[in-house]
Amino acid sequence: MKANPITLTYTKNYVDRSREELLEAVRQVMSSKRFTHVRGVEQAALELADRYGADLEMVSIAALLHDYAKEQSDEEMRDMIISENMDLELLQYGNNIWHGPVAAVMAKERFNVEQTSILDAIRHHTVGSVNMDLVEQIIYLADFIEPNRSFKGVDKARALAENSLEEATAFATLLTIKHLIDKKVKIYPKAIETYNAWVVQ
Ligand code: GDP
Ligand code: FE
Ligand code: FE
Repeated sequence: MKANPITLTYTKNYVDRSREELLEAVRQVMSSKRFTHVRGVEQAALELADRYGADLEMVSIAALLHDYAKEQSDEEMRDMIISENMDLELLQYGNNIWHGPVAAVMAKERFNVEQTSILDAIRHHTVGSVNMDLVEQIIYLADFIEPNRSFKGVDKARALAENSLEEATAFATLLTIKHLIDKKVKIYPKAIETYNAWVVQ
């Protein structure tokens, strides 16, 4: 991992403000611990983008906004799921599954993000999806391997990410599903779809 501070200037109007302004807006809606995580995700995501040739601005914006909704109230999120005509099955879950899709809506409404890969990367960062493009895979994986993460398997995921985004994505998906099964929690069907598409040989 590079220790250098990130210097990236947005020029493509994927978002309605500068990177510094976006960082500040994100900082305002979360704990300092979560903000540190978000900055770690951006760092990891930019390294992957550099390695695999993804658009740095798209990746930076998606990373900074991926957990934007995480500290919103359940009531606010429930209202948005209904008003935005999202999958009503979501209502049987909670913050863990809601905050991605809700943050995608907020990225559009509050920051005028319209680029599909950015919005889908935010939307799908927790449970993945069957057809993740380069930016989506990078955010899904960066969330998993960012420097502040420490759990059994994270080093293997980091090593795999050096050589194959697909293999690392499959490994992260397998570990996530195993972890959910070990905890005996309800698995969102889209997480199973991701497993079937990415892990099953
Ligand atoms: P974070 O927002 O940076 O903490 O990370 P994620 O958005 O990737 O995950 C948030 C939480 O959702 C984690 O604790 C995951 O284990 C959990 N999670 C992921 N998929 C599922 C699922 O299908 N069902 C449930 N109940 N939890 C899940
Ligand atoms: Fe998240
Ligand atoms: Fe996250």
